Amino acid sequence: MTAPQFLLIFVDGLGLGAAGGENPLADAQTMPYLTELLGAPLLAGLTVSKPELLFKPIDACLGVTGLPQSATGQTTLYTGHNAAQFRGQHQSAFANGSLRQLIEPYGIFRQVMDLGLTATQANAYMPGYFEAIANRRRRYAVGALLNLTAPIPFRTIEDYRQGKAVYWDITGDIVERYYDAPAISAEVAGKRLIQLAQSHSFTLFETFLPDYAGHHQSREEALAALQRIDALLSTLVQARPENLTLILSSDHGNVEDLSTSHHTLNSVPLLAIGPAISLFAGVTDLTGVTPAILSSFDEKIDTV
Ligand SMILES: [Zn+2]
Repeated sequence: MTAPQFLLIFVDGLGLGAAGGENPLADAQTMPYLTELLGAPLLAGLTVSKPELLFKPIDACLGVTGLPQSATGQTTLYTGHNAAQFRGQHQSAFANGSLRQLIEPYGIFRQVMDLGLTATQANAYMPGYFEAIANRRRRYAVGALLNLTAPIPFRTIEDYRQGKAVYWDITGDIVERYYDAPAISAEVAGKRLIQLAQSHSFTLFETFLPDYAGHHQSREEALAALQRIDALLSTLVQARPENLTLILSSDHGNVEDLSTSHHTLNSVPLLAIGPAISLFAGVTDLTGVTPAILSSFDEKIDTV
């Protein structure tokens, strides 16, 4: 049997809300491919269980009061440890020293590599990011700290040019605007991700488009972001190799309620497609995703 492989698509700020005029996901045309695949739009309470396909809402509030935030949500998702409880609060945007205490020992890249397997982040990081870090104009985001502490090399603009990385906006429109490299279609981005996923046990790709659209309360931006993610998923599902399990999840709600510029208390989607979906049946919140992925590799090691 071929070894299990995972591709995790992290989508910042995608929650499952009530149907209504302020929820762009209520319209089946916003994510036509995914809506057709699931048989319904991505709204609160949607649960789908089919052969090789699982979709369910999972909790992002993590038993801590206040609106869920990115740094604690992503750390929880990528470590399997409840970072909001660890910090005693939801923490936004960037990973400070205390979250590093969870990311360094429990980050999923590190844990996969400790099993003797391979992990990669498909995102391309532009030179400007590291300049901003060096100049203390930015702090590392959780995904970057995962890489640093694993440690795994960052994919660069050169990797992007060679078709071996994808920018966080999926199509690289931002790369084309600021760097000398052409944008790509969502389909090409999907094919790149599948190629990377085929040569690693675990591959992560992060996109932040819906979170920005939600903060801007822009319906136009939300529709563009969600349609782009839908096109990416269409390619990923159709090009998925048999042994690869595709996972999509988020850190907190946002884009599903354009009546507010803040995050929401809504559950977030957990979508799993592929041979390992049964491992995700018991996942109820952000803490469950990393352990479920790791348990698949453990099973393989036990039985080989
Ligand atoms: Zn946000």
